Amino acid sequence: MRFADLVEVYERLEATTKRLEMIGALTDLLRRVPSNVIRRVVYLTQGDLAPGFRNVKMGLAEKMVIRALAFATGLPRADVETRWKELGDMGTVAERALEARTQRKLTSAPLTVEKVHDNLLGIAQAAGTGSQEEKIRLLADLLNDATPVEARYILRVVVGKMRLGVADMTIVDALARAFATKEDKPAVERAYNVSSDLGGVAEILAESGLSGFRDIHLRVGVPVRSMLAERLPSLEQVVEKLGRSALEFKYDGLRIQAHIDPDEIVLYSRRFDVLTSQFPDVVEGLRDAFRAESAILDGEAVPIDMNTGAFLPFQEVAHRRRKYGVQEAIQRIPVALMAFDCLALNGEDLLERPYTDRRAALERALRETERVRLAEQIVTDDLEEARRFFEKVIEQGGEGLMAKGLASPYEAGSRGWQWIKYKRDYKAELADTVDLVIVGSFAGRGRRAGTYGALLMAAYDPEDDAFKTVCKLGSGFDDATLFALPKRLQDLHQDQKDPRVDSQLEADDWFEPAVVLEVLGAEITLSPMHTAGFGAIRPDAGLAVRFPRFTGRWRDDKGPREATSVAEIISLYRSQLKQIS
Ligand code: AMP
Repeated sequence: MRFADLVEVYERLEATTKRLEMIGALTDLLRRVPSNVIRRVVYLTQGDLAPGFRNVKMGLAEKMVIRALAFATGLPRADVETRWKELGDMGTVAERALEARTQRKLTSAPLTVEKVHDNLLGIAQAAGTGSQEEKIRLLADLLNDATPVEARYILRVVVGKMRLGVADMTIVDALARAFATKEDKPAVERAYNVSSDLGGVAEILAESGLSGFRDIHLRVGVPVRSMLAERLPSLEQVVEKLGRSALEFKYDGLRIQAHIDPDEIVLYSRRFDVLTSQFPDVVEGLRDAFRAESAILDGEAVPIDMNTGAFLPFQEVAHRRRKYGVQEAIQRIPVALMAFDCLALNGEDLLERPYTDRRAALERALRETERVRLAEQIVTDDLEEARRFFEKVIEQGGEGLMAKGLASPYEAGSRGWQWIKYKRDYKAELADTVDLVIVGSFAGRGRRAGTYGALLMAAYDPEDDAFKTVCKLGSGFDDATLFALPKRLQDLHQDQKDPRVDSQLEADDWFEPAVVLEVLGAEITLSPMHTAGFGAIRPDAGLAVRFPRFTGRWRDDKGPREATSVAEIISLYRSQLKQIS
């Protein structure tokens, strides 16, 4: 197929913003394309060479693109660079440069879609010594044969910005119209959601029509488009909408789709980037926890404090996106996978099965470990129970709730009312540090064996001369401080909870309330577990410090009764709330 025929359609697409016109132009195009090139036509239209999950990247640095263009057109490199800066679009730079070209090989022939795709793929795949030269040669070879307008789109694929304004769903729409009817769009969409390969879907349609979809199945190694959630502004509405449903922690991390078979584990992001090398700890964790043959699991990677098991703010793991320093990051901030869905197990496609079945499959597939856990959930239609669970989630570092319809299938790629997220309608910020008293401790594990994993901290309530708990504190200690702690607290150790300590949590060790530490937290939240301010805001909840961190400052200048009071915690809670408009 002549590349010029494709480019003509691209120009039309670029000239309109009307979706129906786009669909019309694409539908005509798809009907005309021979079935053996349709795959490539679709990828190129997406600005790609292969389905996204194959991660085919051009691997051409800006400098190299400039060099290739200069080489192919005879323009000085500096000129190409200036024009790029001026025009902001490499495609237009190439087009103009070719219009003014001074040199051209004599053996120029019209470009075909196949040749364009082949050469671009060659560029992407060239590796090792001399590969940059090879990439430049392949691009120059295309530019030699290209007309100016063809060069525009070739360069846009190279830099990854097609600028056609064509969304994947527009192509889905056009495919349905070209090979079936527009009412068949859902079937085409489903095929795409499951295979994540629009080029492949197009080829099947062109060759065998809708009946070809029978052969599209989930495959380990081929990512499925993620199911997404709707949002409601209140818990009442969530419970009303779904009735009895599964309420889960909504973890604040990074979505991960894990593809597991006996030979390999591959982790995909929601956008199909391969994350395997960034999260070797998750891979290892899965290897240890997984006890089936093969599966596709959905979950959230969340940074955690291995000593306390507490979740850390997501930002802590964001820098893992950088490729380097992964080893260091694993040591400093390990990540746990909170698994919440099972799309396939041992070769069986579970997408259409009710959520409860998929959850049961997940429970069969995984043995819970420190590194791999099941998303915590309750099943209820009781509003009060839902509220208590929500408060627990927030206090423990979750973002809110995900409510899931018990009978719902996994709706790949779509945002539906079977998953509803409920986050808080306010944001809170703790402007000040608090000074809290050590009343108990929890034993450390792993690197912290022999010392404490976390300390149980309390605020002072002068009204009944009691120390009421507000958080478990495990972050912010350097090693020296940490290992000096048992000695420092030795004399305060008590066999039982001090009568003045009011705690619902069972600590491993108890101390006489005496030592005061300065603690920084993200905010004060309602908590069903802590006793400070219990009943002050809500009858069945106390208050807690979320994401507490030791600032490094021992408040030796303060006695335990001079620590932050419960009344202050209550007023901090009240003053930090800001409605999100
Ligand atoms: P949002 O990004 O705010 O639209 O919320 C959806 C995201 O929440 C999903 O893509 C997941 O990354 C994340 N998430 C966290 N916990 C869960 C859970 N238990 N079930 C589903 N998604 C979750």
